[in-house]
Amino acid sequence: MAKITLNNIAHSYDGGNSYALKALTHEWHDGGAYALLGPSGCGKTTLLNIISGLLQPSEGQLLFDDTDVGTLPTERRNIAQVFQFPVLYDTMTVAENLAFPLRNRRGADKLSAADINARVQQAIAMLGLESLANRKARGLSADDKQKISLGRGLVRTDVNAILFDEPLTVIDPHLKWQLRTQLKQIHRQFGHTMIYVTHDQTEALTFADKVVVMLAGEVVQMGTPQELFDTPQHTFVGQFIGSPGMNVLPCEVAGNEAVIDGRRIALARQYPELSGVVELGIRPEFVRLADNGHGMPVQIVGVEDVGRYRIARAQLQHHRLDIIVPEHQPIPSDPCVEFDSERINIYQNSQLVSGA
Ligand code: ATP
Repeated sequence: MAKITLNNIAHSYDGGNSYALKALTHEWHDGGAYALLGPSGCGKTTLLNIISGLLQPSEGQLLFDDTDVGTLPTERRNIAQVFQFPVLYDTMTVAENLAFPLRNRRGADKLSAADINARVQQAIAMLGLESLANRKARGLSADDKQKISLGRGLVRTDVNAILFDEPLTVIDPHLKWQLRTQLKQIHRQFGHTMIYVTHDQTEALTFADKVVVMLAGEVVQMGTPQELFDTPQHTFVGQFIGSPGMNVLPCEVAGNEAVIDGRRIALARQYPELSGVVELGIRPEFVRLADNGHGMPVQIVGVEDVGRYRIARAQLQHHRLDIIVPEHQPIPSDPCVEFDSERINIYQNSQLVSGA
């Protein structure tokens, strides 16, 4: 497994008129599980293709440990890849498909038949494919085929990294949870460096130790799922992560209060350097719905029941506000809201401002 270093990696598909990736500098440690998360077009696949060698970056340097691999072709980078759709040999059995990436090795890397068999059996056990081991790939369900594709990536234990490009897209929703959990366990057990591209926050948050959130060719934050939830560094991260995402309201800050349309809200920190209109971020989990007289009056414009809780959509003067309402709490007839001061984040030009 290898540490992966990006030094000012940038990529333009149109000769420098626009950049799909903009000067990324990052170090991803040996054995880490990283998810690249962001909306369509933010540059996730471009970055993955640069790491795998399918694409040469327009600028910058890529290192695996201390080796510059920027000019090496894919086959010399010693990486395993799992794609969105299964890539299998239909006429081979499941076990033969799993063995294939191991049989191709030459010279000092060549494995004995016994070693190959042991690794194939391990992959079969990891993914629960025992009953399919001797079946031909042709005729298997899309779910099973994709499980085997995952196995073909995981069977190679001595690679620099395993790259996953939206690998659960074709998987039936009820199986996704099981496979995500399995991948996580496999990571804990074997400590591969794994990079997993997805636009699905649940996949990213359950799989990764560190989530790399991308927007328009840039990394806006890299952090643990908890860090992304508690202290989004950018309003986009707050809004993209969460169901629903963070509320962002324009406000002014005066002393240890924020002022929204003349209403004062206590802050836990002070921001003496701020003036003018900034933004207050608060997650729907930390907005409390109360009876009239406690906090700021709101109008409830809709309630969505998602089982264990409800999401109330409210109008706070000129602003929309999402509120998570616990299962048994009634919606008051004259509702008001209170914000948990400790959970308020203040942003200027979309960037988090640290208070004192
Ligand atoms: P998705 O989740 O939809 O796959 P992504 O985050 O992986 O999106 P990329 O596919 O890396 O994003 O695309 C980043 C930007 O580069 C987009 O604006 C896209 O239109 C552009 N792009 C990607 N591939 C090419 C290409 N081969 N030629 C020209 N532009 C491209």
